[in-house]
Amino acid sequence: MNIVVLVKQVPDTAQLSKTVDGLKLMEEGGPRIVNPWDEYAIEAALQLKEAHGGKVTAVSMGKPESAEALKTALAMGADQAILISDVAMKDGDSLTTARILAAAIKKIGDYDLVIGGRSAIDDNMAATAIQVAALLDVPQLSYVAELKGADPAAKTITVVRLRESGRETVSSKLPAVMTAVKELNEPRYPSFIGIRKAAKATIPTWGVADLGLEADQIGAAGAQAKWQDVSLPPVREAQVEMIEGEPEEAAKTLVDKLVAEKVI
Ligand SMILES: Cc1cc2nc3c(=O)[nH]c(=O)nc-3n(C[C@H](O)[C@H](O)[C@H](O)COP(=O)(O)OP(=O)(O)OC[C@H]3O[C@@H](n4cnc5c(N)ncnc54)[C@H](O)[C@@H]3O)c2cc1C
Repeated sequence: MNIVVLVKQVPDTAQLSKTVDGLKLMEEGGPRIVNPWDEYAIEAALQLKEAHGGKVTAVSMGKPESAEALKTALAMGADQAILISDVAMKDGDSLTTARILAAAIKKIGDYDLVIGGRSAIDDNMAATAIQVAALLDVPQLSYVAELKGADPAAKTITVVRLRESGRETVSSKLPAVMTAVKELNEPRYPSFIGIRKAAKATIPTWGVADLGLEADQIGAAGAQAKWQDVSLPPVREAQVEMIEGEPEEAAKTLVDKLVAEKVI
């Protein structure tokens, strides 16, 4: 089963509270990590490859440093990685990103499944992978929480989707695009051998010219949604009150306060 995994490098949002400029953090600041949801996508791809054979290709669109995220995918066990990086792609939206990723997937060719994360923790559109499915004109399976089974020969896959109202078991034809939620699996740690292999790996970089896209389909020119402003949420004021006294009395006081505040 040949699988393409979509891997985005994102800022470590644990650092977000340490900056007052959210946009600056997204553009250049702070340590960067593999988008956590994409780790579940990588793990799912590796499990499917282990069960059915084939190849896992990790793809990322971003700045040259996104190669580090791809190296994590390689260290976990992906067979190859491709970075798509070109200044012309700057300031796009989820649609321009999806156009670029879909063009790359077509260029890779011979794929059975594309797996992305449910969303990227920085921009959080939860749209890119779904738009990739639309552009490739294949079925999309979002919020996948369980892989029930795949049959590469019959070109089918069965998954369980997480819904607010419960779980939904869906069978689909392959090729398809699916997005992973954290219930799907427990991402493995890269092995020592994997880390050494990834450190030595050469990751090919593709640009706009390699993908046959027009200038008005990508970057700021191709974006349909334009960011007007990015800011951190207002700081919430919190008050702490210590309840003194013997445990029984303190517990009673606490209950009275929770009832008064309509918490219980
Ligand atoms: C400086 C700057 C300016 C921006 N301006 C705008 C703007 O004007 N309008 C706007 O709408 N957005 C803007 N963006 C947001 C940017 O275009 C988003 O990255 C894009 O919209 C994709 O959405 P997302 O990151 O929320 O991914 P989601 O849709 O939440 O991602 C879902 C999944 O898709 C895959 N995926 C997403 N992105 C990538 C990637 N790059 N490579 C590989 N896989 C990926 C991953 O598997 C991910 O888990 C800007 C970003 C920056 C840094």
